[in-house]
Amino acid sequence: MSRRCIIIGASHAAAQLTASLRQEDWQGGVLLIGDEPSLPYHRPPLSKAFLAGDKTLEELAIRPSAFYEKLDVSFCQGRVVEIDRVEHRVTLEDGSVFDYDKLALCMGARVRTLALPGADLGGVHYLRNIADVTGIQADLPQAKAAVIIGGGYIGLETAASLKKQGMDVVVLEMADRVLQRVTAPEVSEFYTRIHEEAGVDIHTNKLVSELAGSDKVRKVVCSDGTEYFADLVVVGVGVIPNTELAEQAGLKVDNGIWVDDGCVTDDRDIVAAGDCTNHFNSLFQRRMRLESVPNANEQAKCAAAAICGQHKPYQSLPWFWSDQYDLKLQIAGLSEGYDELVIRGDYQTERSFAAFYFKEGRLIAADCVNRPQEFMISKRIISGGLTIDPDRLMDESIPAKELL
Ligand SMILES: Cc1cc2nc3c(=O)[nH]c(=O)nc-3n(C[C@H](O)[C@H](O)[C@H](O)COP(=O)(O)OP(=O)(O)OC[C@H]3O[C@@H](n4cnc5c(N)ncnc54)[C@H](O)[C@@H]3O)c2cc1C
Repeated sequence: MSRRCIIIGASHAAAQLTASLRQEDWQGGVLLIGDEPSLPYHRPPLSKAFLAGDKTLEELAIRPSAFYEKLDVSFCQGRVVEIDRVEHRVTLEDGSVFDYDKLALCMGARVRTLALPGADLGGVHYLRNIADVTGIQADLPQAKAAVIIGGGYIGLETAASLKKQGMDVVVLEMADRVLQRVTAPEVSEFYTRIHEEAGVDIHTNKLVSELAGSDKVRKVVCSDGTEYFADLVVVGVGVIPNTELAEQAGLKVDNGIWVDDGCVTDDRDIVAAGDCTNHFNSLFQRRMRLESVPNANEQAKCAAAAICGQHKPYQSLPWFWSDQYDLKLQIAGLSEGYDELVIRGDYQTERSFAAFYFKEGRLIAADCVNRPQEFMISKRIISGGLTIDPDRLMDESIPAKELL
């Protein structure tokens, strides 16, 4: 009898997993169950090119439907509400039941919502999936003033895209600078300047206490008494991993579903990949949960190998990107815990520079704005455990390609 692998979540990880399963010679059936209406699609453009109107819905698909047909992957739209590990069975919200031999958890994350007065008013949006963006787009023709709550990457990308659509845009950030959780103060200063030059108003140290309006939002009120007029609000205050199914099934969960270096959970027949997982990263020597497409893809490759009985350890360097205006930020590594920052280029006046983060003399991360060569070199240095003199990195008279 043919064996079946079920993938929960039509996600970035799932798109890679289906391809990798066939590459690893999985002969059995593959059933992809997702609660969104579409096959896996690119999520990053949602706050960038798609929201800015530069990309169509069709262009979001990671692979065309013919790709899945060719791989003999079936798709079922529905929400899985229970995993029975003893019977090897999943149950959907509509009561249908499917048996599995191998199960892949690729459920991603969901947005953190605001528990504030007025949070359910019309015109208040979040940004995680296509439906969220089409909701924003439906409000755009009537809207003039947008308030973005949260000055992280998604908030800033949304600000840039809405500015491009001709809106008045205000960003409210609770911390004393944007991108505080993920970058050095110099990088925050750079992005504040870029947005202000584009006409976006950034206000920091702003704790939102209320969204006011009758049926539609009209203003955003902060705890210090300041108020901002808004007929559109987009909230970008982080995500929560979708781990409840795994937890109910008795799998180990702590800030993500725990997986080993082969992306296997504590049940040998269940793997997990993407934003919903927590893994031990050998490069950084600690457990972590990452929210990025490269992580979802790389974990999916390891998970597919594990399903096919092979051990492919996950050893990828974390990397990310963010597009705002004409700026492509590429981030290699993780800067948390850095003790020295070295900057190459003039971040105070130019639109291109690289910030290198060192810890105990070793490069651990780099934020590279319109600097692809510095990004590639940083990836090599960090993942190879190589050493580099910070003074060399700073010296712009040494061409980037000669740094190593
Ligand atoms: C607006 C935006 C911009 C981003 N920009 C970037 C970027 O520039 N660079 C970058 O690297 N990353 C970016 N990210 C993050 C990136 O999109 C995520 O890291 C990536 O999507 C994670 O993929 P995943 O495979 O873990 O799951 P996801 O892509 O999150 O998909 C999970 C899917 O599982 C479904 N699901 C959940 N539970 C169930 C269930 N019980 N039954 C059925 N289906 C279920 C969900 O509805 C969803 O469709 C961005 C994210 C957003 C929202």
